[in-house]
Amino acid sequence: MTWETVIGLEVHVQLATRSKMFCSCAAAFGEAPNTLVCPVCLGLPGALPVPNAHAVRLGVRAAHALECVVHPVSIFARKNYFYPDLPKGYQISQFDRPLATAGRLQIDSPDRGDITIGITRIHLEEDAGKSIHDRFPGLTAVDLNRSGVPLAEIVSEPDLRSPAEARAYLVALKQILVYAGISDCSMEQGSLRVDGNLSVRRAGDEALGVKTEVKNVNSFANVERALEAERDRQIELLSAGGTVEQVTMLFDPVTGRGRPMRSKEQSHDYRYFPEPDLPPLVLSTEAIETERQLIPELPRAKRERLIAQYGLGPYEAGVITADVVLADYFEAVVGAGADPKTAGNWVMTEVMTGFNETEKLEVEPSRLARLIALVTDNTVSLQAAKKVFVALRSDGDDPEVVASRLGLIQVRDPGTLEAWVDEVLAAHPDEVARYRGGETKLLGFLVGQVMKRSRGKADPVGVQPVLRERLKS
Ligand SMILES: [Zn+2]
Repeated sequence: MTWETVIGLEVHVQLATRSKMFCSCAAAFGEAPNTLVCPVCLGLPGALPVPNAHAVRLGVRAAHALECVVHPVSIFARKNYFYPDLPKGYQISQFDRPLATAGRLQIDSPDRGDITIGITRIHLEEDAGKSIHDRFPGLTAVDLNRSGVPLAEIVSEPDLRSPAEARAYLVALKQILVYAGISDCSMEQGSLRVDGNLSVRRAGDEALGVKTEVKNVNSFANVERALEAERDRQIELLSAGGTVEQVTMLFDPVTGRGRPMRSKEQSHDYRYFPEPDLPPLVLSTEAIETERQLIPELPRAKRERLIAQYGLGPYEAGVITADVVLADYFEAVVGAGADPKTAGNWVMTEVMTGFNETEKLEVEPSRLARLIALVTDNTVSLQAAKKVFVALRSDGDDPEVVASRLGLIQVRDPGTLEAWVDEVLAAHPDEVARYRGGETKLLGFLVGQVMKRSRGKADPVGVQPVLRERLKS
């Protein structure tokens, strides 16, 4: 029996605003508990919410970036439930009249290649607070700094067919949201959270199977693992003649298994109704259009342009455009005169290593371009240039000055090269005789010996003619 896996994802992203969704408290991470609060986000009686215009704009921008229809009128609604970290007893969200619907996202599926995943809807909402279970033994503490932080919930169609495809979707979605300045999408700081809905059905069936929800996943890799575990669990259950119950599974990254948390609420359990304290959210055509204009070149378009404009391979272009900061840096290095392929190799290796270590690009594009030029004209070897690059990360000098200080400038002075060559020829009489007897491929060996004797400083291009000349006689 073959089974088909059907996955839809709900992604909550924190919108990159300074303040919260309905009050002016800071939407910052890492502050002391319960310091970023006011009567509105504490849910005190009589406090009234006021929508954050910037959060709305970022939501509209997300909708454009995902090719959604943006609705000029949407409605905030109360989603009622009880939880200790939800002081109002409801969350302000959007329900049957969301901000945007019917979008799509193109992704590179590891299984199916280039595919389009439908975006069902994007709606705006506020976050709840945070229950902290590990701070006081036997007690649960509540931190309301997150209460009221602006979120966009991005719901996909059940178009994904494997856990690996779900991960590819998340990677593509995150790239777009970061590129467009909508969210920093930091899973560590809780500004991107993923819930997955998964069901399986017999291959060829049209109807969807019973789905479960997978929650509590802290990385894209673990989303994939959690979905795999849930897919396997459902297939095992159904293959044995059992049935899948609609539950929420909490994933444990240590055991790699999910455990059922509670039966999943139906939307009517939340008793949604229009938020009486807020009028409908009305957006002018102009306001909607303005956000469209603010969308920068997105990762896919940038990747294709780098391939067309600079002759990069698809793999290189994919690596370089994964982070817009690296892509911009690459183009600046090329703009400063470097050969694109060479610049691309540098960005994917030494530059990325440094960036991953410090999250900074310490060597200005113009200085990397000059360093590349030093390699091209054989002033320094590629190996030496890598050492120079490491030095340049903490040193503001010109690459040539640094290379010189480190003694890495290649020696081209004929007298010095001749001296090294003569020493090598004297030390290898057998090879010299064989070369003169016609074994000309020994030239490479002799060049290597000269490089060794010069401790890598001899210019290999300059060494060859000197060797040939000396071997003639
Ligand atoms: Zn507040």
